[in-house]
Amino acid sequence: MFYDVLVIGGGPAGLSAAVNLRARGKTAAVISNPIEENPLWRSARVENYLGLPGVTGQELLDAFRRHAETAGASFISGRALNAALVENTWYVSVGSEVYEAGAVVLAAGASRGSKFPGEEEFLGRGVSYCATCDGMLYRGKRAVVLGWTDSARQEAEFLRSIGCLVTYLHRPRSCRISQEGDALRLTHAEGAADADGIFILRPSVAPTDLFPGLELKDGWVSVDRRMATGLPGVFAAGDCTGEPLQVSKAAGEGLIAGQSAARWVDAHAGAKPAAGK
Ligand SMILES: Cc1cc2nc3c(=O)[nH]c(=O)nc-3n(C[C@H](O)[C@H](O)[C@H](O)COP(=O)(O)OP(=O)(O)OC[C@H]3O[C@@H](n4cnc5c(N)ncnc54)[C@H](O)[C@@H]3O)c2cc1C
Repeated sequence: MFYDVLVIGGGPAGLSAAVNLRARGKTAAVISNPIEENPLWRSARVENYLGLPGVTGQELLDAFRRHAETAGASFISGRALNAALVENTWYVSVGSEVYEAGAVVLAAGASRGSKFPGEEEFLGRGVSYCATCDGMLYRGKRAVVLGWTDSARQEAEFLRSIGCLVTYLHRPRSCRISQEGDALRLTHAEGAADADGIFILRPSVAPTDLFPGLELKDGWVSVDRRMATGLPGVFAAGDCTGEPLQVSKAAGEGLIAGQSAARWVDAHAGAKPAAGK
């Protein structure tokens, strides 16, 4: 499916970008983890969002999401795993599906958690970030799933349903991955487990893993005043661009990123298939 713009992240920044893309007549799909897994969902009181003192995080997110739905944005549930540019079209993979767009707004929030020792070394050689993509490789074999969210538990269930022998570890600490004969060994704060496949299902993906070549400044995605990154057709907004990590700033940057992405699509429309095809 081709959209004018894909938005990665369904928090305040991404939903604001989607509303403003729709206001400019663009097709837009928001790729996001379930809204209940957004960190703001847990906030009992948001005191400083203009005009709504004391609103809960859940009320605010519900209202933002309804607004984007009413505006006609599409929603794709899941984690964006990587993005690649081929001849003016961005291809973004979510599980085993691939979506296409003329531009992308990255609004994935602050990237939390650094990689475990051994994770990078064994990525693609036993370590995977996607159960639906790689699960079949481990049918009848031992799979360890490291999860932080309810969706990770569901991915573990999926692995079980296709015949993997699954050990699920919730929010494991101090992990390290090493080779153990033909298998991998996961050592963590509470013990160790040997496995043929280790699935690391964090709620977010580091921006530079999603977009190789993306420029960072002090660990945050580097943007100009139009929220443009250095990559063609890629804009960023919200917590991923840096402090202050606040809802108003995220919503404002989402507006600018949405408008800039719409302008980008208008300027480059000739090079792409018709939107929505
Ligand atoms: C407990 C708490 C209390 C807070 N209180 C306040 C407050 O009172 N006032 C205030 O202004 N701010 C507050 N904040 C901060 C505020 O929540 C953030 O600044 C704001 O949510 C940032 O919006 P965002 O859209 O940039 O990112 P987020 O809201 O973090 O949204 C990003 C979304 O993208 C999803 N995502 C990430 N990677 C991917 C991927 N690869 N594929 C698909 N989806 C992905 C994430 O799961 C998340 O749902 C609070 C935060 C917390 C945690």
